[in-house]
Amino acid sequence: MLKRFPDRLDPWRFADLGKEFGGELPLDTFSRLSACLLRPVGNVSFKLVFSRDRERRATLGGWLKAVLSLQCQRCLEEVERPVDIRLSTVFVQGLDEAEMLPEEVDPWLVEEDQVVFRELIEDELLLALPQVAMHEPGACHAPAAEMIEERPKESSKQERENPFAVLAEYKRDKQ
Ligand SMILES: [Zn+2]
Repeated sequence: MLKRFPDRLDPWRFADLGKEFGGELPLDTFSRLSACLLRPVGNVSFKLVFSRDRERRATLGGWLKAVLSLQCQRCLEEVERPVDIRLSTVFVQGLDEAEMLPEEVDPWLVEEDQVVFRELIEDELLLALPQVAMHEPGACHAPAAEMIEERPKESSKQERENPFAVLAEYKRDKQ
């Protein structure tokens, strides 16, 4: 099911028209996102819904889903991070307008009355990237994790020191 998506759009007009777009796009067609991925494979599936809210603001609702291939910062191997984004965005024309919005909505600053369709999707995915990607502790192949487990060996050194502590105590008792 191939579907054409607009290149640029006027979000206020699209909101008035109640436009909706659903489909999939390959992740490797987003250059900024691809640069953050270990392997730019798979697709992002999405549904974008333009509408007006009760305050007559132009909003974007819908969702984005993808599985992102990231590099585990512990073992440097691949870690897959599923993202499932619920969109709640209000289009604004200036920062003053953005500041007046309630906290739960994300402002989207529109420049020159136009929004690039693909940037909407790419920016939302970039925002969903974790600052540090890592496997769950049990799933990580890192030798570093084993090293942490080996650490108790140091306590045997402490045990070796213990006789001195016992001796010191013994001496104190004798005085
Ligand atoms: Zn790992």
